[in-house]
Amino acid sequence: MAGGGAIALPGFVNAHAHVDKSWWGMPWVPYGGERTTQGRIDHERAERDRYGIPSVNATSAVLREYLRHGTTATRTHVDVDLGVGLRGIEVVRDAAAALDGLLDVEIVAFPQDGVIRRPGVLRLLEDAVLAGASYIGGIDPCTIDRDPVAQVDGLFDIAERRGVGLDIHLHDGGELGAFQYELIIDRTRRTGLQGKVTISHGFALGDLVGERRAGMVDELADAGISWATVAPVRTSPLPWRRMRDRGMGLGLGTDGIRDLWSPFGDGDILRIALGFARLHGLRTDEDLTAAVRLATSDAAAFVDRHRHDLVPGARADIVLVDAENVPDALVRVPPRRLVMSGARLVARDGEMLV
Ligand SMILES: [Zn+2]
Repeated sequence: MAGGGAIALPGFVNAHAHVDKSWWGMPWVPYGGERTTQGRIDHERAERDRYGIPSVNATSAVLREYLRHGTTATRTHVDVDLGVGLRGIEVVRDAAAALDGLLDVEIVAFPQDGVIRRPGVLRLLEDAVLAGASYIGGIDPCTIDRDPVAQVDGLFDIAERRGVGLDIHLHDGGELGAFQYELIIDRTRRTGLQGKVTISHGFALGDLVGERRAGMVDELADAGISWATVAPVRTSPLPWRRMRDRGMGLGLGTDGIRDLWSPFGDGDILRIALGFARLHGLRTDEDLTAAVRLATSDAAAFVDRHRHDLVPGARADIVLVDAENVPDALVRVPPRRLVMSGARLVARDGEMLV
């Protein structure tokens, strides 16, 4: 679709974000702490209060930056732990409410600091559902909790009783990661939660090879499990074609941006789609267009939308970019000429109008 020499894309969907963690809009915060997952968790817990994280101001700044880039719907993990309780969820709900529906925000109550090793967190997750979270998160049942069956069973128990979905962070690679996929596949089938479970990151799927990998994709697809990736550099490419051909949902996310985990990220999901295309060696127009689709219409289910596209009956979420065609828009990531959400004008030439 063309408009004034620009092309129109559907509003972008951010399938994996952490809008409560950022110091966006504040003075620069130098990177500190250890590089491991546990090191990042420790550093964030030690430093977040000093920067007033989480806050409505910083979260609003992140949400507005998403909108400025053309993201009109996001699924965001929000930390729930013994220190912050449900305050992060209140912060994110307040920041989202201030935008009056311009940005759809689906909340995952995320136990960043562990579940079983932190008695009381399962109760908090259940309280978070009552406070409006649409999903329950989890994290590395093996390496963070070191009690994978207990974590997975605890999460599925709440999801089954409360009728919410699950979105589990899994950083573990190779066969340790694969073992946890098998556990999650089994519990998804037993609880009848097919279509409501997402694995985020899931680096191990790219590590597996040959029949082991193909068979794992088939089992995940059969259990209706979807995948969210931020396509980080130096990770193994995902078997995305097989995942797509088997009907698995695949969404792209920014992950946290400019936070106590990493100084990187600008909240532009089109740039993540470019990273996905590079990581997976995409070259043809068809494949480059497919990468943009992952950032838009293909990710509808991640934000509970039945349909998200430039078609009759869909919400009028439209992004105009100066580009010759969709592949050109992907490889250049041009500024957004215009962003419209629910038929309301949000941004023009990179400036917010609201
Ligand atoms: Zn994450």
